[in-house]
Amino acid sequence: AKALGKARYHVFDPAMHQGAIQLLQLETDLRKAINQQEFLVYYQPIVALSTSKIIGFEALVRWHHPQRGLVSPAEFIPVAEETGLITPIGAWVLREACQQLRIWQEQKLTQEPLTISVNLSVRQFSQPNLIEQIDEILEETKLNPFSLKLEITESAIMDNSESAKAIIHELKRRKIQLSIDDFGTGYSSLSYLHLFPINTLKIDKSFVNRLDKSQEDMGLIPAIMSMAHTMGMDVVAEGIETPEQLAKLKALNCDFGQGYIFSKPLESKLAVQLITEPLR
Ligand code: C2E
Ligand code: CA
Ligand code: CA
Ligand code: CA
Repeated sequence: AKALGKARYHVFDPAMHQGAIQLLQLETDLRKAINQQEFLVYYQPIVALSTSKIIGFEALVRWHHPQRGLVSPAEFIPVAEETGLITPIGAWVLREACQQLRIWQEQKLTQEPLTISVNLSVRQFSQPNLIEQIDEILEETKLNPFSLKLEITESAIMDNSESAKAIIHELKRRKIQLSIDDFGTGYSSLSYLHLFPINTLKIDKSFVNRLDKSQEDMGLIPAIMSMAHTMGMDVVAEGIETPEQLAKLKALNCDFGQGYIFSKPLESKLAVQLITEPLR
């Protein structure tokens, strides 16, 4: 045992140790953040490309860290996922977003009821009490389940676990909508996705990036679009930034779009003002 201890001492890597300390600090801070309610939800509009009207919003969590300011979800969601803290954080985001949408719907800002899209990480998606959590929140907020869209990635579905299948079945029974996020970046195929009741494909920003002025080649987007439509799914293009990208997506019959060209994610008070102003 002594020899082993020595050997361990020799492979000790100070850089790795530093990383571990930072990770531990982040975890400690995240636990505090949950208790002290340091999270916010920002809202980014999703726009019907044929009418330029807002049909709903995606809820995107923000962490207002007391020392560091706004911390990106890209930094803390993976840690939250690994430590299981994603469960309380995710439940909070879902409740907050459903509450907010219900308030907006009651204000009758649009003819068609707005939808809210909420991200679910892989771990949330296999969490046994997810459905219970969703039921509670829908009941509390009195939100129509049609208005809720859950965004999951291809890997959450490819996982193919019994629990994921059961969750999808329960969501469908409640008429909650399902979107595949970052479509095209994972390893799923459209024919495999066809086995699941999916309403919407969100084409990843990396595909939209390629639709630029100089580029004639539209990449995989036309094929994705026509197959999605054939299968009865609609398509959202993510991360639209330029008028060229927007024009090409419209020409390709893309249903919806999201991106800085319309608006960045905003706090609720600012996001709702977008509905009453023309976006482009
Ligand atoms: P995502 O679900 O793919 O969200 C889209 C990300 O792209 C958002 O980053 C959004 O701000 C950004 N974005 C939107 N339009 C544009 C654009 O035109 N240009 C560029 N450069 N970026 C654009 P954000 O808010 O930093 O979120 C990052 C990721 O964190 C999300 O990617 C999602 O995977 C995760 N996330 C965010 N909120 C939640 C949450 O409440 N729960 C879970 N589980 N994950 C979340
Ligand atoms: Ca998303
Ligand atoms: Ca995405
Ligand atoms: Ca993403």
